[in-house]
Order: sequence, then C-alpha cells, then structure tokens
Amino acid sequence: MPDPLFPAVAAGSGKEALRFGDRKLTYAELGAVAGALAAELPADRRVAVWATPTLHTSVAVVAALLAGVPVVPLNPKIGERELGHILADSEPALVLAEPGVDLPAALDLPRHDIPLAGDGKPPASEPDAEAPAFIVYTSGTTGPPKGVVLPRRAIATTLDALEDAWQWTADDVLVHGLPLFHVHGLILGILGPLRRGGTVRHLGRFSLEGVTAELANGATMLFGVPTMYHRIAEAVATDEALAGALKSARLLVSGSAALPVHDHQRITAATGQQVVERYGMTETLMNTSVRADGERKPGSVGVPLAGVGLRLVDEAGAEVSEPGTVGEIQVRGPNLFTEYLNRPDATAAALDGGWFRTGDMATRDPDGYVRIVGRKATDLIKSGGYKIGAGEIENALLEHPNVAEVAVTGEPDDDLGERIVAWVVPDGARPTVEELAGHVSKLLAPHKRPRVVRYLDALPRNDMGKVMKRALG
Ligand code: ATP
Ligand code: MG
Repeated sequence: MPDPLFPAVAAGSGKEALRFGDRKLTYAELGAVAGALAAELPADRRVAVWATPTLHTSVAVVAALLAGVPVVPLNPKIGERELGHILADSEPALVLAEPGVDLPAALDLPRHDIPLAGDGKPPASEPDAEAPAFIVYTSGTTGPPKGVVLPRRAIATTLDALEDAWQWTADDVLVHGLPLFHVHGLILGILGPLRRGGTVRHLGRFSLEGVTAELANGATMLFGVPTMYHRIAEAVATDEALAGALKSARLLVSGSAALPVHDHQRITAATGQQVVERYGMTETLMNTSVRADGERKPGSVGVPLAGVGLRLVDEAGAEVSEPGTVGEIQVRGPNLFTEYLNRPDATAAALDGGWFRTGDMATRDPDGYVRIVGRKATDLIKSGGYKIGAGEIENALLEHPNVAEVAVTGEPDDDLGERIVAWVVPDGARPTVEELAGHVSKLLAPHKRPRVVRYLDALPRNDMGKVMKRALG
C-alpha cells in the first residue's frame, strides 16, 4: 500500500494545521472533517472545487485526496467562457463549495457544501501513486489554459524535494496569501505544510499588514509571487514593522514569475534577507530552487531539485553545455505530470523522449545555477542578428527612477527584424525613449536598448500577477 500523502492528517493531533483568519483546524479536526467528506464523494469521478481562499477549499481538497477522487480547482473569479471550457474538458460530477457562496449560473453542476466539522476518519488505504490527484489548469499566460493531469506521485516527490532544499520541517509556520487554484498556492502553500506536519496561516487576501502580523507572531516562512515582493520592496525601506518582521523569517520564497533583481536588492538592503527563488510549472511542479543552505544569487532560480534532471537544448535539439549560453530548459523526473487532459497531440509535442520541453529559456552559471532568460514564445527578441532576452532588459529598466513597472516585447521592424519595445508604467515623470535607451546602453550592450516606449497605467496581469504579454500590442 502506498505511503499516505499526509501522515500527520492520518495520525491526527491537537496541533494547528490550518488557519484562515479566525477559523482554524487542528490535524485531528482536519482528519475528522476531511474523512467524513471523503466518504461522501463519488468514486471514479472528478470533483470541481470552487477555490475561494478559505479553509473550506483546503478541507475539500484534502478530502478528495484522501478519497482518491481527482480535483479540478476553479478560480472563483473565472469568466464564463473559460469556465465552460474547463467543465466540458474535465467533466466533474459535482462542485464542492463554501456554504452561502454564490456560484455562477454557468456552473451547472450538483452542488455539495463543504463542511468545517465532522466525525469521520481518513480512509485506511491510499490510492496508487500514479492515480490522478488533480486536473490543474495552467495560468493561461501564453494561450488558453491547458488541463494538466497530476498524479499523487508527482505531488509527493515535489514536496519532499522541497523539504530537502528548504530544510522544511514540522516546526515551520507558513504565511501566504496566494490563490488556491494553482500549484503555487494550493500544492506548495497548503499541501506542503500538511505533508510536513507543519502549519499554514493564510491571509485570505495578501496584505503587508497581514505579512507583518504573522511573521511578527511566529510564522517562519513566506510564499509569494513577484508582485507581492514588489509591494514589499516598495514599502520596506520606510516600514520598520515590516522590515523587522521580515528579518525574523527563516525563509522568504518567490516563484511563478521572475523576481526583478531590483526588488530583491531593495528587500535585502532593508532586511538583510535574501529571497529564495524557485522555478516550476503546472506540468512539472517544482524544477529548481535556491537551497536554504546554498548561496543566494539574485536573478537565479538556483539548482535542480533532488530527482530532477535538467538540460538546456538549442534550436537544433543539441544540448548546450557552455556556461552563459542560452538554451530551452528541458526537465525529466518523478515530478512530471501524466498528460494534458484530452490533448494527446499537445502531450506528445511537449515531450522529447521523456524530457519535457518547458518553453522557458535559460543559461547556466559555471557552478550550475540556472538563470531564466524568459519564455521562448514571448520573451526572446530577435533584433539586429542578436537573440535578446526580455528579462535582462526589464531588470535594467526597473533601475531607472521613473520606471515603476515594465514589460519588454519585440515587434516587427524592417531593418532589425524585430525592434525592442518597452511598455512602461511610469513612476512620476514619463521617461523618454532617449532616456531609457541611454540608461540601458550604459548597463547592458547598446543593441539591447529599447527603440520604442509606450506608457500604460498598469500592465495586463493574470491572477498570479504574471504579465500577459499576448495582451500587449
Ligand atoms: P500557460 O502555460 O497557460 O501559458 P503559464 O505557463 O504561466 O501559463 P504556469 O504553469 O502557472 O502557467 O506557469 C509556469 C511558468 O511560470 C513557467 O513556464 C515559467 O515561465 C514561469 N515561472 C515560474 N517560476 C518562475 C521563476 N522563478 N522565474 C521565472 N519564471 C518563472
Ligand atoms: Mg506554461
């Protein structure tokens, strides 16, 4: 029989497992309520979970995992078209939802309210490690979201590799305010602590005050996306309470998108803390991380996690071994998904003899640290015979005093093939293209300077704070 995914839930104890605001559950209470709900779920069907950032979502997901019923987490702010696509694609038998929460009319499924108390027991036997645990839809950053089938094996593997990399223990108390319908917030942020037998304190909604209060009150770890660390970076130089709370943390972790170097440096300057960056995807769960006991390098996502094979491959499919040379990241290992749901062609296209093509471009330092340059589809600009990564230019532009936020893209150009465009959210006066070009030419090579600047009030971002470059231009 496979080992339980959550030994601490199976054992039950009076220790606090989950807290959302003033609602909390001990391990014993979680086992009792999730065990009771697990017994009510339909065997051999999938269930959707209306993933509000609440205790209910956590209970529903743990119950389904105990029962071996695959979960389709739904974004509670989802639009009708996307909802229709996900329901038709994944065919859940019912939707589990927090009592009293309105569901859209388009969510035409039997509803099952999620309880917060019960007197069941976790089932004695666990499903096979290859059984699907989730259908998680990708963030939709580069195209319509794809349903990723994740087996229990991948979840156990990734969480155990993070235990090793982060020296993650039952004593850790995690604070986070991420949504619960993607890998980061749900699998890492809720299931990670539960697998370790630790504690989660979820903020409901991310706020600087919440982070400050929880870290000052004994939380040891913070998980966030770069937009959250940006808010921290903006505030931390003058907010002494926040700076003090961050200083007391054991580990600050960022992921889901590149953490701008400028933000990282500002946080370090004010707190002495270096943020640990990790890199993952829905399809592969976690691939690399800076280790808790390793050197921290701003701008790098660290080294491959235990069990993860990682290589960089050029356009001809040959492995790139020279440090500093750009290639597409390919990964393999027990952290990988099973398949894209109902899309055998997409699954086959994503695999290269057992290696998963991530679509992310990177270089490696001589010591093996991986630096993500950007996505092959949107972040690689071919200009003047050069291949230029947007991320490096974005990092340089963020150091300009009048740039609050920026996204760099390429657009067709008769002379250059593509010209570099900077989409800028100004901070104070609007920086001119000459100013920005001069700034970039000083920090990087002149061919990396923007030729066009366009001003925006805000960048188009999805619910993980990722810039949707396909919405620009
Ligand atoms: P879609 O596949 O639908 O276009 P998506 O790729 O954004 O959306 P996810 O699976 O949620 O969906 O995100 C994985 C991607 O996020 C990675 O391929 C990578 O581009 C990016 N990413 C994650 N962590 C990092 C990081 N630390 N630095 C840079 N990029 C990251
Ligand atoms: Mg993707």
